[in-house]
Amino acid sequence: MNPADVVPTTVPFNRPYIAPSTLATVEAAMSSGQTAGNGPFGLRCEAWIERTLDVGRALLAPSGTAALELAAMLLEFEPGDEVIMPSYTFPTTASSFVRAGATPVFVDISGETLNIDPAEVASAITPRTRAIVAVHYGGNACAMGALGALTEAHGLALVEDATHAVLARYGERWLGSIGAVAAISFHETKNLSCGEGGALLLNDVAMLDRAEILREKGTDKARFLRGDVAQYKWLDIGSSYALNEISAAMLWAQFAEAERIISRRLEIWDSYSAAFADCEESGRVRGPVIGDGNRHNGHLFYLLARDREDRDAIIAQLLERGVHALFHYVPLHSSPAGRRYGRYHGSLARTDDIAARLLRLPLWADMDKGDVAHVIHAVRSVLQ
Ligand SMILES: *Cc1c(COP(=O)(O)O)cnc(C)c1O
Repeated sequence: MNPADVVPTTVPFNRPYIAPSTLATVEAAMSSGQTAGNGPFGLRCEAWIERTLDVGRALLAPSGTAALELAAMLLEFEPGDEVIMPSYTFPTTASSFVRAGATPVFVDISGETLNIDPAEVASAITPRTRAIVAVHYGGNACAMGALGALTEAHGLALVEDATHAVLARYGERWLGSIGAVAAISFHETKNLSCGEGGALLLNDVAMLDRAEILREKGTDKARFLRGDVAQYKWLDIGSSYALNEISAAMLWAQFAEAERIISRRLEIWDSYSAAFADCEESGRVRGPVIGDGNRHNGHLFYLLARDREDRDAIIAQLLERGVHALFHYVPLHSSPAGRRYGRYHGSLARTDDIAARLLRLPLWADMDKGDVAHVIHAVRSVLQ
């Protein structure tokens, strides 16, 4: 079929994947007698993450944001402590650290990979710096060697916002397994999802005891359930950060198909990349640059237009042709809350430039060949 003949119903930007076995796993969870967190599906999901991503411990959470909040709480900030992070990221990368009492210091990204630039990080380090947050944009690993060298030299914590990056690698290492703590997300827009969900990954397992307490409303209920204490008590200021068992059952159904979901996304990503190669050569747009030795996970495919006007025009023309493309982050250093609670260091010129020019194309596991051909045809006709 010629893609031009396809009825132009809009290809949505995202459609969450639902594994066929979901009804069975959710029904099993509902009839098991336990629907709250820490049930059999939750424990199976945590063991899967630990085994598959080679992390010390995984604790499921109600969202990637909740996992980032737990990660920030575990670092026990003092007033005035600073955390260096990219401005080009989602708001909760920063708000999680603000809640925990730290000040975000926003720095620029690399114009190539769109990940935090280690040279900018190095120049932003002060005696108040306590941590660096590596956000792996689109599942493409940050320069973890350079960032690790900085955290080691200055005695800082390395935190991975691996919310885009499940089953992506830096060299041979899984993202989320490198920093002292990491967060992954199972939001419906991420590669593996249960609607809303996430996990805290602990590679420094000395933090495990406190992480369990913070997750269980500030009590030692986890110890009690293991029979280590006779009663559980209020010990710390935690919150309600467990993932309910129904969501864990939905997540388990996705884990069983994880390899297939990622390879399907990579296939679509590769089709886009090949289809727009000549548009890139002509300098009309440019696509993603994956760092040497990284294996990404097909989380997102973007194009960089010439300028904001061009980008907005491309998005509008794609919508007319039945393709829902989207811009991405509004930089945090110039956002109202970013200015109120954080500061920035150095020039943020690349962040402002990329934020103005970037558009993302539809990419979801259930896209069929017709959907992909339709997007490719629409993009090529707009760029001609
Ligand atoms: C999605 C996302 C989050 C938050 O994850 P949720 O599960 O939606 O709370 C945090 N940081 C980044 C970079 C994200 O893309």
